[in-house]
Amino acid sequence: MPVWICETCGNHYPETASPPRACVICEDERQWVPPSGQRWTTLTELGAAGHQSAVREIEPGLTGIGADPPVAIGQRALLVQTGEGNLLWDPSGYVDESAIQAVRTAGGLRAVAASHPHFYGASVEWSRAFSAEILLPEADAHWLTRPDPAVRTWSRTLGVLPGVTLVQCGGHFPGSSVVHWAEGASGAGALLVGDTIFVTPGEDRLTFLWSAPNRLPLPERAVKAVVEAVQPYSFDRVYGGWWQPVLRHDAHRVLAASAQRYISFLRGDAPSSR
Ligand SMILES: [Zn+2]
Ligand SMILES: [Zn+2]
Repeated sequence: MPVWICETCGNHYPETASPPRACVICEDERQWVPPSGQRWTTLTELGAAGHQSAVREIEPGLTGIGADPPVAIGQRALLVQTGEGNLLWDPSGYVDESAIQAVRTAGGLRAVAASHPHFYGASVEWSRAFSAEILLPEADAHWLTRPDPAVRTWSRTLGVLPGVTLVQCGGHFPGSSVVHWAEGASGAGALLVGDTIFVTPGEDRLTFLWSAPNRLPLPERAVKAVVEAVQPYSFDRVYGGWWQPVLRHDAHRVLAASAQRYISFLRGDAPSSR
């Protein structure tokens, strides 16, 4: 019996003879179901359709692992490497032996975590390959569609490895979180944000959405809570959920300025363009 994978969000469901009736993640207002109806796939089918893992170093100590061509929402995972072990962040729904081998070569896996339920992807497959913990925010743990005993829940902040901290920000989901990676950006610090925060295409601003596919904004109090949650940390760079875009410099200042601008639009008093 296969693990069933939702074609739209990439989340995994337990091994059963036939797929579930619906994907609870995609039926939620923050996601979407294709007009033609729910579709399911499996890792075997995805491999047969030509998907492969793409593994690339992004900066020293940070490796991206994505599917090529991308699967579902298309996020690429990030492997944060430390002298005491590695964290896999935001796994896609696709995983194959070459990706597992690449992580093994990089020192294996202590833990798997994700910014939010849209990106739980193949977390359980990864956890089982390395006997790694699955770290889920208490507030969102019920969204994991393939329950597993390796899950450990946390709230607010969690130090995972030296210089690697999970920070709960809320907003998109109550448990939406980011990784603060102190060694990132040559020691200036980096945030790995999934879609808790979005980097804009020009790589010069940040923004926020309650639902990206359905174009629903984040309320003011939630925007403020995201900024407040990461305010105490030093960071110069923001990596979103995809290979690009990346906000490379000055991210702490850009976050504050972008949030202020966003809130002025929510209040209806943003200046008109000149
Ligand atoms: Zn789904
Ligand atoms: Zn999302």
